[in-house]
Amino acid sequence: SKSQQKGHFLFFNDTINTQVQRDLLLESELHLAIANNELDVLYQPQINAATGLIYGVEALVRWYNPKLGHVSPVEFIQVAEDVGIINDIGNFVIKKSLQDILQFNNCSNTQLHLSINISPKQLMEPDFVSNVINLTHEMAVDNRLVTLEITENVLINDLAKVQPVLQSIRDSGMKLSLDDFGTGYSSLSYLSNLPIDEIKIDRSFIDKLLTNDQSESLVKTIIAIGQFCDLTVIAEGVETKEQYDHLRHYRCDLVQGYYFDRPLSLTALMASYQTSRIS
Ligand code: C2E
Ligand code: CA
Ligand code: CA
Ligand code: CA
Repeated sequence: SKSQQKGHFLFFNDTINTQVQRDLLLESELHLAIANNELDVLYQPQINAATGLIYGVEALVRWYNPKLGHVSPVEFIQVAEDVGIINDIGNFVIKKSLQDILQFNNCSNTQLHLSINISPKQLMEPDFVSNVINLTHEMAVDNRLVTLEITENVLINDLAKVQPVLQSIRDSGMKLSLDDFGTGYSSLSYLSNLPIDEIKIDRSFIDKLLTNDQSESLVKTIIAIGQFCDLTVIAEGVETKEQYDHLRHYRCDLVQGYYFDRPLSLTALMASYQTSRIS
């Protein structure tokens, strides 16, 4: 009926308004997030598949805002890119995670490696690489412990511009990891042309590893390519022992996921990993 239609229309309109209001609030609150101390960094262990020992951690940013609650980085990193504050957030994550890894390594025999997610806009900022190198130098962090995770979509844009940036990262001793590997296209051609050290098999393939033959073949193939190209292969989103066993069997180098641990605070990371071992 007409009244129902009207009601439906109003409801639809309200939904849009609510979404627009949330986006606006999110944007204005994000501008203040660093100053108000609302950002934090958690660390998810990366495990050497052959030995079961911790190899390093991936830094994952968290935002808790009193009005919005917990906001996923999937949502706010995009907004931060759009409104031009991704560098402030990115620099916060880099500084905080370098400090934390130093604190871990200073009171531990194991020297953890640190992986940091870098968004495409952040990577292409003119002073990005020199800023990171200055930071690691100032803080006396060994560059060889640091891996920058980038996604394929950064490569599709402007390879001629990206190439020297990646090369300067490589020249500094830091490593480069290709995140979400297998989800983009023409990935293979990048591998031979770019200074990549590691490929990270996307979680979607690990999810289906035991239930879908195609995913299994793909994971095996990616690992074989990695070995052939002398790249470290890491699998993300490992949630079960069976998945871990398969990946170990295929000779995947590193594994990461809820089966081993969720992203942890520095305190929790230190408590669990300064001496422990996974078997
Ligand atoms: P990503 O880099 O692919 O990170 C992996 C995501 O999978 C993380 O979500 C992690 O918490 C989650 N995860 C880890 N193990 C498992 C598992 O076993 N099962 C499942 N279902 N999920 C697992 P998170 O922390 O919400 O981050 C989402 C995305 O946000 C990241 O995807 C990354 O693209 C982005 N992100 C996070 N932190 C940063 C950052 O500091 N800078 C930038 N530029 N992006 C970030
Ligand atoms: Ca990542
Ligand atoms: Ca990923
Ligand atoms: Ca992802």
